Amino acid sequence: MTTTTPRAESAPATARYEAVIGLEVHAQLLTRSKMFCGCSAEYAGAPPNTHVCPICLGMPGVLPVINRRAVEYTIMTGLALHATIPEASKFDRKNYPYPDLPKGYQISQYDLPLCSGGYIEIEVDGERRRVGMNRVHLEEDTARLTHAPHGSLLDFNRSGVPLMEIVSEPDLRSPAEARAYLQKLRSILRTLGVSSGNMEEGSFRCDANISLRLRGSTEFGTKVEVKNMNSFRSVQRALEYELARQARLLDEGGRVVQETRGWVEDKGITVSQRSKEYAHDYRYFPEPDLPPLFISRAWVAELQARLPELPDARRDRFIRQYGLSAYDAAQLSADSAVADFFERVVARYPTPKAVANWMQSEVFRLLNDRGISIEESKATPEMLAETLELVDQGTISGSMARQLFEECFGSGASPAALVKERGLAQVSGEGALAPVVAQAIAANPQAVADYRAGKATAINFLKGQVMKLTRGQANPAVAEKLLRAQLDAQE
Ligand code: ADP
Ligand code: ZN
Ligand code: MG
Repeated sequence: MTTTTPRAESAPATARYEAVIGLEVHAQLLTRSKMFCGCSAEYAGAPPNTHVCPICLGMPGVLPVINRRAVEYTIMTGLALHATIPEASKFDRKNYPYPDLPKGYQISQYDLPLCSGGYIEIEVDGERRRVGMNRVHLEEDTARLTHAPHGSLLDFNRSGVPLMEIVSEPDLRSPAEARAYLQKLRSILRTLGVSSGNMEEGSFRCDANISLRLRGSTEFGTKVEVKNMNSFRSVQRALEYELARQARLLDEGGRVVQETRGWVEDKGITVSQRSKEYAHDYRYFPEPDLPPLFISRAWVAELQARLPELPDARRDRFIRQYGLSAYDAAQLSADSAVADFFERVVARYPTPKAVANWMQSEVFRLLNDRGISIEESKATPEMLAETLELVDQGTISGSMARQLFEECFGSGASPAALVKERGLAQVSGEGALAPVVAQAIAANPQAVADYRAGKATAINFLKGQVMKLTRGQANPAVAEKLLRAQLDAQE
């Protein structure tokens, strides 16, 4: 690191400045076909340029057709965000020249988006806050451009995939809030089933706008847009970096220039990509090849009625129905697959607090270690319920349960079947344990002497020996009872 002396204003930047952050998220929709043609919208696994037709290749003279499902998904998203759905909406041409855009324009929405306003509730450090939404509109994704050593490669499979742009108001006040907002938004989209929300694969992409202002000031400062983050953590890190960079600039009497900057993950910095002087004039105009959309109130009501239980509502129900703490409820409802898993375990093993503890300790740890989601794992609700039942029945000890669950988590095996197959059942019978207890006492005279001298830890040592001799299968409570009985009898 550098050897410069600390700056005069060494108090954290956040003591003097307040961050103002607004996020723009592009989320691909999980429709079967593309936005304006019948091509498959599944672009990831397919060989390049196989899911294409004259429409998504941008050939002249072809006519786009609106994907009804994509409109439906966007309206559902708006409803979940408490947005207003207008009676009339339309598509517009956004003109810009770029090789990944075969038509030379993108069909998007300008002044009449499908959803306006609304809010998302976030919670940071136990404090709940509403973040205002600006709009949600529908557009088409561009082709995928890959820069190779001898030129650039284009894959049009992604061209025309339905894309929602979800824009927040500049209501976020810290990088941590920005992260919480993104996690909540992703959770809502996944619960609705409208987007996979996968940031690493690029189906959920975030551009972050950030400016600083002196605490107490009500005016906004000049904002910078940051791109290229592909995880929640990166968004938070990029914003923390920008906060510090802009604060330093302002402290030195400089000013922030309005520009787009790119996050460089491995260096942990942002670099200037283009300044506002080079901003495009998109020359928006109504898309002449598509009719305007009239959205009947009956359709909106029908979609509203079809909305699933959303994450906030599920969190509140977990508190009411299962008596979970607010913290546990938030942890277990943030991801709908995790929440489903939890409820299925509880349906079979109705002790919610125990299930919540196991989920947050063992299950989350194993998922984290392997870097996978619960759907990608081999874990099943039955597997966890069975494990907890085996402990309750006294068949296995708590530590054996953890080992066994970890093994089943990896292989998908049934814990009860494994216990049977390997004869792992805990030994609780006094008849079977008594000789082992006697053996442990005979082999450890020092510990026996310590026990008689009143040393409290001696009994635990002897119990450990019994566990060792039975390869962990002795019931610890029974072992202790027998140890005390035999030791006291010998006195
Ligand atoms: P632009 O015209 O540059 O695209 P918009 O007004 O459309 O800017 O806003 C784009 C995003 O930037 C929105 O998410 C908005 O909340 C956010 N934003 C706008 N002004 C600021 C600001 N001064 N500081 C931080 N974010 C801002
Ligand atoms: Zn096509
Ligand atoms: Mg804008």
